[in-house]
Amino acid sequence: MKQIVLFEKEMDSTPIEALSGNYGPNRYFMKRDDMLPFSFGGNKVRKAAEFYKDIKKQDADVVMTYGSNSSNHCRVIANMAAAMGLFCHIISPEENREILFNTGMVEQFGARVETCPVTEVAETIERRKAAYQADGKKVYFIAGGGHGNLGTEGYVKAYQEISDYERENQIRFDYIFHASGTGTTQAGLVCGRLLAGDGDTKIVGISIAREKERGRQVVKDSIAEYLGGDFEKLYREEDLIFTDAYRLGGYGRFHDGVTETIKAVMHREGIPMDTTYVGKAFWGMCRYMEEQNITDKNILFIHTGGTPLFFDFLKAE
Ligand SMILES: *Cc1c(COP(=O)(O)O)cnc(C)c1O
Repeated sequence: MKQIVLFEKEMDSTPIEALSGNYGPNRYFMKRDDMLPFSFGGNKVRKAAEFYKDIKKQDADVVMTYGSNSSNHCRVIANMAAAMGLFCHIISPEENREILFNTGMVEQFGARVETCPVTEVAETIERRKAAYQADGKKVYFIAGGGHGNLGTEGYVKAYQEISDYERENQIRFDYIFHASGTGTTQAGLVCGRLLAGDGDTKIVGISIAREKERGRQVVKDSIAEYLGGDFEKLYREEDLIFTDAYRLGGYGRFHDGVTETIKAVMHREGIPMDTTYVGKAFWGMCRYMEEQNITDKNILFIHTGGTPLFFDFLKAE
């Protein structure tokens, strides 16, 4: 198994920069997780760094995961498996097979992509796992989106980076916003905050797909799983803010307001954002602040990546 030097040690903190544009009567900052230096960046790289250590420990032969044609997670995992010299097997729903940049990269990294109806994903995964095992191969399975305790761990560490920045720069962030999908990123940030004993920072997950009830429950379950016995002691309901007010009808859906925001941020800050996650969440953050009449606060937005999806947007423009 080949090493990935970047993942062998703790990664450097990603930069936090002050934004210069006018997004409302607050001070806006952005943490650039899109600049994580592996596979075009993004939050799936933080998660992958944790899986990497575990795969090595378990001495696996095959890395298996699940995701759609647009999945940033599948691209990063296929990239990681290629860099480790391991076989990668991806189960993907057959419903939408449009070739996006992420889809193309997964193939270029040499992953085997197996499609099946979305309703048959669970059984397909089990069947494949069993087939590899019967063949004497050790399979390492990663849940879709890198969901689970190891993924959560990646964002506990990101929260620690934010705390370090606050201490070094004598600033407190009143709010942290980010795009929330499977909820692992949010779970990690909330756990990081609870473990640090930081009182007031509000962490707001802008749902890009799920409706509130399910989305919130999944984040809460992830927090409980990560904190274990400390959950009852540390967690209060108000620690979890998950809004579905900006999901615009679901995964991948957006409107002109989102594209206008993306263009404004690109022009003003020189920072690319995609329509599925980051641009949509940034737009949602601006609406949230306006609707709640929040002023004069320090706001941190986490840019969670999706750079290849930005290129899809650019191509379509
Ligand atoms: C996966 C993803 C998210 C959502 O992260 P979760 O941990 O699944 O909530 C946000 N932004 C980008 C760019 C992503 O790829």
